[in-house]
Amino acid sequence: MGKRDTIEIEKSFLENPEVIEHYSLLQEIGVFSYIDSLNKEMRNYENLLSGALDIFNRTSIDEIMDATVWQITDRCLPSFIAFLWKPVQGRDDITVRGYRNYKPVDLKLDVQSITGFESFFQKHSKPISFDLLAFEMKDNDAIRPFYELAPEIVIPIIGPFGLYGLILVGRKILAEDYLQSELLFLQQLMSFVTQAIKNHLHYERSLRDVKTGLFNHGFFMTRLGEELARARREKYSSSVIVIDVDKFKDFNDTFGHLAGDRVLECLAVAIKQSVRTGDVPSRFGGEEFTVLLPNTAKDVAFTVAERLRCNVAAMTVPWEPPLPQVTISLGVHSFSQGKELTAEEIIAHADEALYLSKERGRNRTTLWGSGVLFRIEHKMEQQKT
Ligand code: GH3
Ligand code: MG
Ligand code: MG
Repeated sequence: MGKRDTIEIEKSFLENPEVIEHYSLLQEIGVFSYIDSLNKEMRNYENLLSGALDIFNRTSIDEIMDATVWQITDRCLPSFIAFLWKPVQGRDDITVRGYRNYKPVDLKLDVQSITGFESFFQKHSKPISFDLLAFEMKDNDAIRPFYELAPEIVIPIIGPFGLYGLILVGRKILAEDYLQSELLFLQQLMSFVTQAIKNHLHYERSLRDVKTGLFNHGFFMTRLGEELARARREKYSSSVIVIDVDKFKDFNDTFGHLAGDRVLECLAVAIKQSVRTGDVPSRFGGEEFTVLLPNTAKDVAFTVAERLRCNVAAMTVPWEPPLPQVTISLGVHSFSQGKELTAEEIIAHADEALYLSKERGRNRTTLWGSGVLFRIEHKMEQQKT
């Protein structure tokens, strides 16, 4: 029922001659104050629904958090709000974001893992007061980092893959207790917020490779297709680097698959650290990685590839007993408005260059070129070996 309908019904009720005749009696037995309280409750639900809609319309976790903080702070004035979540499924890394007085702040909350809360929230999947949680988990180390901050309420974000994160709400700024109605509001709003965050985590994780946290093959190809169209339209060059670990089969055979997996994880970190924010690093498959460098000409792309190669050659992989150095070979292809290639053809070119790097002795970078000189050089190198 809309606002207008409610007003019309209330108006015709109040204008009813019978009501007018028994006005004093109705007032005495509390009919009008009951109507007022119903109206108030309805307004609360309307606000909750429009707040929920606002949160569901946000397009990133950051935006969801900002909107949530505004709604809660407007209503209850908590001393802080903190969001903790696992960006990558199956891994323990935690991202923490704190707010005070509507603004992001560093709450100095040093939490490395929320896995210790998993079994508690599997049984108890609702918001809980921190005091009660601390009592229930007094023998569990996971709760320790939270003591100093001492939130008032802890809200779990739970999904098909277990505990995704926690939302912490601090005591009220004015140090008074939360009203029952405020607690109800928080509980209701948070059921929408946790759902919205969960949806976004599912979406973001669907673009990523589980083992390394880099983008996956599907997302990379989609972004490459988009970038191709854009580079053509706006007449600039972009580049693709294809990376393959050298002699990785031998490595696995000698040191085992688990050591190999650890190498791939460290490699992913090295790749991430060697490229810019707008670049798209991905695990293309197995021990092959790709990086899309939007708006980057071939000389810069070559420099980036070489930096990457050197960083990997200098990388240490924590493992017992220590592992030998791993190297990678790279192929680079740059594309601009010239010949119209498909995303697959661009990858094939970069792969061809990568293949040359392997032929030339591995641990090196080759830039794909279509000129005659390039072919001659390639032939001469082949004859030399
Ligand atoms: P090259 O220098 O010519 O690339 O030699 P290579 O041994 O790396 O080439 P090949 O393609 O024959 O072998 C790739 C190896 O990568 C085989 C496979 O076991 C390993 N590999 C692929 N994916 C993974 C993974 O997720 N974890 C581990 N540990 N190894 C993987
Ligand atoms: Mg390979
Ligand atoms: Mg290889």
